Amino acid sequence: MCLFPGSFDPFTKGHADIVKRALALFDKVVIAVGYNEQKAGWMPVEERIASIKKLYADEPRVMVESYTGLTVDFARKCGATAIVRGVRTTADFEYETQMADVNRQLTGIETILLPASPQFASLSSSVVRELAHFGRDISTFLP
Ligand code: ADP
Repeated sequence: MCLFPGSFDPFTKGHADIVKRALALFDKVVIAVGYNEQKAGWMPVEERIASIKKLYADEPRVMVESYTGLTVDFARKCGATAIVRGVRTTADFEYETQMADVNRQLTGIETILLPASPQFASLSSSVVRELAHFGRDISTFLP
């Protein structure tokens, strides 16, 4: 089983693509919605969870959980054998390899980095939030 952690604020087609590909590698995928008690997100965490759960209602191999604190602590609590993350850019790569290294040193949990599919490589939650802020239709970016 793998943990796919993120803010998912909101959950996009890019995230859904990573989940689909992770399901080909692992028996189960736990989508872990991380939140910060000090910082409210764009979409309330309960709403993020509810919409992701609805999306995977017919996929028993996908579970959706929320967590706060360190991702590796939650990964260990869940009994995940690996953490899955997506990589779009070299900036993502630098950040993700650093996190992966620290997380492996802390707990021995490996991180599997999946390169973004080309059609979603420019898609991010922050772009979607920005478009929504200016009243644009964001439905094409959401699964
Ligand atoms: P975080 O705040 O932890 O980066 P995000 O919700 O922004 O959370 O992203 C969660 C994971 O999904 C990250 O590994 C990110 O790189 C990946 N991701 C986000 N958008 C895409 C995309 N369009 N294609 C592939 N991976 C993506």
